[in-house]
Amino acid sequence: MPESADSVSPLSPSMRLRFAPSPTGHLHVGNARTALFNWLLARGQGGAFVLRIEDTDVERSTAVSEASILDDLRWLGLTWDEGPEAGGAVGPYRQSERLDIYRAHADRLLAQGDAYHCFCTPEQLDAERKSALAAGQPPKYSGRCRALGADEARARLAAGEAAAIRFRVPAVGDVGFDDVVRGHVVFHTDVIGDPVIVRSDGRPAYNFAVVVDDALMGITHVIRGEDHVSNTPRQVLLYRAFGYAPPTFAHLSLVMGPDHAPLSKRHGATSVAEFRANGILPEALVNYLALIGWSPGDGVEILPAADLAARFRLEDVGKSAGVFDIDKLAWVNRHYIKVADPGRLANLALPYFARAGVVHGALRDDAQGYLAHVVGLAAGSVDRVDELPSRLAFLFAYDAEVALQRDDVRAELAEPGVRDVIAALAEESAASGPLADRDAFRALATRVRSRTGQKGKALFHPMRVALTGDVSGMELDLAVPAIERGAALPVAGGLQPVPDVRARAAAFAAAVARLA
Ligand code: GLU
Repeated sequence: MPESADSVSPLSPSMRLRFAPSPTGHLHVGNARTALFNWLLARGQGGAFVLRIEDTDVERSTAVSEASILDDLRWLGLTWDEGPEAGGAVGPYRQSERLDIYRAHADRLLAQGDAYHCFCTPEQLDAERKSALAAGQPPKYSGRCRALGADEARARLAAGEAAAIRFRVPAVGDVGFDDVVRGHVVFHTDVIGDPVIVRSDGRPAYNFAVVVDDALMGITHVIRGEDHVSNTPRQVLLYRAFGYAPPTFAHLSLVMGPDHAPLSKRHGATSVAEFRANGILPEALVNYLALIGWSPGDGVEILPAADLAARFRLEDVGKSAGVFDIDKLAWVNRHYIKVADPGRLANLALPYFARAGVVHGALRDDAQGYLAHVVGLAAGSVDRVDELPSRLAFLFAYDAEVALQRDDVRAELAEPGVRDVIAALAEESAASGPLADRDAFRALATRVRSRTGQKGKALFHPMRVALTGDVSGMELDLAVPAIERGAALPVAGGLQPVPDVRARAAAFAAAVARLA
């Protein structure tokens, strides 16, 4: 059993941060950035990072969504010290498992006179809301049940009438709080209607549960999206009613699309899961998200998570909205792909190779090693992991006939001397052994050159087209040994077979000869 929640003081000297997602869908990159800023602060300052699942909205919360959020956080490397799976001293960490705690807190407010039962029906509340809107007023609870005596409320409850519990907002005038990002923020209590804290079905409302949890979990800093700014005065009043010290607040500007509207589906990918499926590396997404609204300073942009954490300061987070720049993410991703371990990259790219028909089932060790080798060769020229199969298609999907249907390949054949080079390449490669390395390939090229008199581009372009089926791609010095190494693999290792140079040159020359 967890220790008594009250044993952790909200004034604990070390920082305690939390991420509190509602499991109602995938993890949006804006929320991932919120999680990241909390995590960076916790890791940089030796604090604790708590994960709390806010699943009191039973209609919209799902276990599938919770699992996918946890999975995405793990994929990003945003490990939590306390929360689901990790446990911790102030759990449970799912709101649906804390209903007794909320009940006890609501009773406390009722006993203090800071809350009251509200018997208004949904129809009454709806009519009030509509007439306020019609009169051009912001909708606000009228306070109809505010003055009900405790005895009357008890009698109506005993008679089976449904009631919500509302917080009695004190008429203190201004309620303010210091926000690390936005400065001092003030709301007037006149605009705050008494909020429901417990619904008639017993479920706690967000503003209430979040205060109870942040206080009992000893959260020192609440860093969240600016969509919660207007909730904060209600929360501050609840802290006061309980006698709990409020945490430090920091509301982050939302992540926007290029048109400065909040990033949404119509801008393209918005969830961590989508970026993950689109070949973005987790370290790239983490690094890029940290740059939205914050800068590590010194003109540095590429920094791994641990270094970001060491430099991160909440005070340096900007107030203006950050625009999600997909090209910049691609640039950051390109960097991390270049420096990634090729074996890891190959593993991350396996689903894409499978989809491209290159990988069938489990890979034998030699095939795995080969794939890592060629992924390493291609890594410098892609922006995303999912582009690797097309960069390496020349190895596994070579087909002379198909290549010759391409306009750019046929245009190449129209150049003078090209057919001679292709014919000579077929004969010379038939006569040579496997081309294990760059020097062996160079020797072959020299023989083709002396037979045809072609050199430079006029020599290498036709050779590229014949051996790779493409007019551009990886340097032949690398591509040719990669072809030969793949061709030497024993078959049935789980990889599509790679035809060797000799077979390619022969097939291409034969296909060219068949052309009119
Ligand atoms: N569950 C809330 C959300 O996802 C958390 C808000 C907060 O951090 O207080 O928006």
